[in-house]
Formats: sequence, structure tokens, C-alpha cells
Amino acid sequence: MATAFITHSDCYRHEMGRGHPERPERLAAIEDQLVASGLEAHLQRHEAPLATDEQLARVHPIEYVRAIRQVAPQAGTVHLDPDTAMNPYSLDAALRATGAAVLATDLVMGGKSASAFCSVRPPGHHACRARPMGFCIFNNVAVAARHAIHAHGAARVAIVDFDVHHGNGTEDIFEHDAQVLMVSIFQHPFYPYSGTENPAPNMVNVPLAAGAGSQQFRQAVTRHWLPALQKFKPELVIFSAGFDAHAEDDMAMLRFADPDYAWVTAQVKQATDPHTRGRVVSALEGGYALSALGRSVVQHIRVLAGLGG
Ligand SMILES: [Zn+2]
Repeated sequence: MATAFITHSDCYRHEMGRGHPERPERLAAIEDQLVASGLEAHLQRHEAPLATDEQLARVHPIEYVRAIRQVAPQAGTVHLDPDTAMNPYSLDAALRATGAAVLATDLVMGGKSASAFCSVRPPGHHACRARPMGFCIFNNVAVAARHAIHAHGAARVAIVDFDVHHGNGTEDIFEHDAQVLMVSIFQHPFYPYSGTENPAPNMVNVPLAAGAGSQQFRQAVTRHWLPALQKFKPELVIFSAGFDAHAEDDMAMLRFADPDYAWVTAQVKQATDPHTRGRVVSALEGGYALSALGRSVVQHIRVLAGLGG
């Protein structure tokens, strides 16, 4: 069984203004490195479908989904928050990004793909139940997790978030939801300044100080994530795969290196494979240094595809 790679041209047309770091070139940088590394030949490509209201409404109030549809502009740019904007293509891009995560879940839970990576934008992990935020409109991984539970009968889903920012939206959606475990690392104190005050028991949040580096990251994963994942016994793992903790990324200061992304993917798989039977979905979140993003995604997908680190 191959690893699926899911994307859509609509995700290239969503633009939030000149100089915005969350830009279409990010997806092109990933494509470049897939070809340069030879990984391309091992992947099965799929076009992302549009997420449906039924799928979105498992996470977001339908009024919120309607409000986003309503505010989407026919021309020009509309700002949803100081960092998040929509152009005339953004609604479809957001629906494709979430639809990719749903298709990934269908392929993996249905036994058609061993694992799946969604190369999509906008990202999703800051999107709360009823609030867009931090470049995010719909919470892609959250919709995928609920889809796994409701459409495929998964009893337990683990969300693994290694983006440099805390996935406050995912926490908002799942705190105290016993069917979902979220493990995360993030730079702290840093945007969005959440994740450290009384997290719910199903949230394993590990804040790291600026400058932490590979060693502290690996220690945090080994000490905090892996025991929690082993205890939880998830039937599906979903990565919130952000690559903005990389040392070359100016967005933040955690200073991870390319091999850390292969390492963490392998560690999480090893801890969960007995229960997931290898079922892993991954969706792109952040990552703004183009070359480092492309290389790190290759490291991550190589392990998903069983090709080693
Ligand atoms: Zn981020």
C-alpha cells in the first residue's frame, strides 16, 4: 500500500497579501523537494475534494461555516483577523484543505493507503470552534479526527502537533473529549500565548523555551509524548505537521534540524503502530523557510512511507 499525497491547485490561489509569510510558494517548495529527493515516485497523488457542511459541522457550529461562506469576497481581500485574510479563492482553498484531511482519513481508515500527507493551505490548528485565527479558517485535523470517529467508528484518535505554535484551536475543540488525545510541543512564551494554563487531562502540552534545540525536543517527546501515546492506544494518529520550529525558519526560535522531523515521526509511529496498525494521517500546518520546509516535509513523509529516515 502506498502513501497518499493530497493537494489541490486551489490551495495555490489563496493569498493574504504581499509579504505574508503563509504564501503559495510554500507548496511549490514541497513539490520541488519531492522531485529532488526522488520521493515523488513512491507517492500516490490525489486531488483534494471540497469538505462538506456535514463534515465541517462536526467541529464548527454551522452558523460559523455559513458566516465564512458569506464573508468570502468576490473581489479584493477581506481580513478575518490581523493575520488572516480571504481573497476570492480562499474559501475553496480552505474547503479543499479540510477536504484533503477528510479524504486522507477515508483512504487510511478504509485500508486504501498506508498513510497520507495533505500538502495544503490554509493551515488549521489555530482555528477554534467558532473563530478564525492565525492564518487558519477551518481546523483541518479536527475535522479529520471527528470524521474518523463518526464515519469510520474509531474509538480513539491521537493528534500530534509539532508546529512551533501551540494548536490552541485544536485544544479549544477537543479539551475534555475522551476520544481524542492531543500531544504538542510549542515555543513558550510565544503566539498564541496559550497551552500552559490548566490544560485538560487529554492535552499533553510541552512548552519549550526559545533556543531549545533538537536535544530538548527529543527529551520532551520521549518523556511526555510517548508514554501518553502508548497509554492512550489510538486507532489513528493525525499529525498537525508544522515545520516552523526549524532553525532556518525566522518565525520562531526552537532551532530544530531536518533529521528531527524523521526522528519524531518514527518515534510516534513506533509508539502507536501496534494500535493504529500503521494508520497515520498528516496535514501541513506552518513552516515558512521554503528550503527547510521542503526538506523537512521529505524527512517526515519518508518515514510515513516506510522508507526510513
Ligand atoms: Zn506555526
